[in-house]
Amino acid sequence: MSTKSPDVLAAPPNPLVAITLAEMHVRRWELKAVCNRCSTKLRVSLPAMIRTHGPDAIWWGQTPRCPGLECQGGVLRYAARALRGGSWVSLDAPPSELALTAYRTRCRAYREPR
Ligand SMILES: [Zn+2]
Repeated sequence: MSTKSPDVLAAPPNPLVAITLAEMHVRRWELKAVCNRCSTKLRVSLPAMIRTHGPDAIWWGQTPRCPGLECQGGVLRYAARALRGGSWVSLDAPPSELALTAYRTRCRAYREPR
């Protein structure tokens, strides 16, 4: 049995690594959402999110309205983890300039023919 903690096996989510839904899905991150007002907790399906919002939607800094019918004005706070047992990292903060620059660099790398 390995004694390594999950955070050692896969680094916790970081906006320098993935900021869009597609990038998170490729890395098999798990997403959850919790309402800041009612007790709504959602396990988020990345394929469903990609169908709804598109693969290039940036999900750091997103706080959409809570879908709860009884909920008055709550917002969903998202968190991600890189693998089962790993640390949940809040997606509350929008990506920094540095993270956006890293993202643009990744995009160019994907598209440039080798
Ligand atoms: Zn709510």
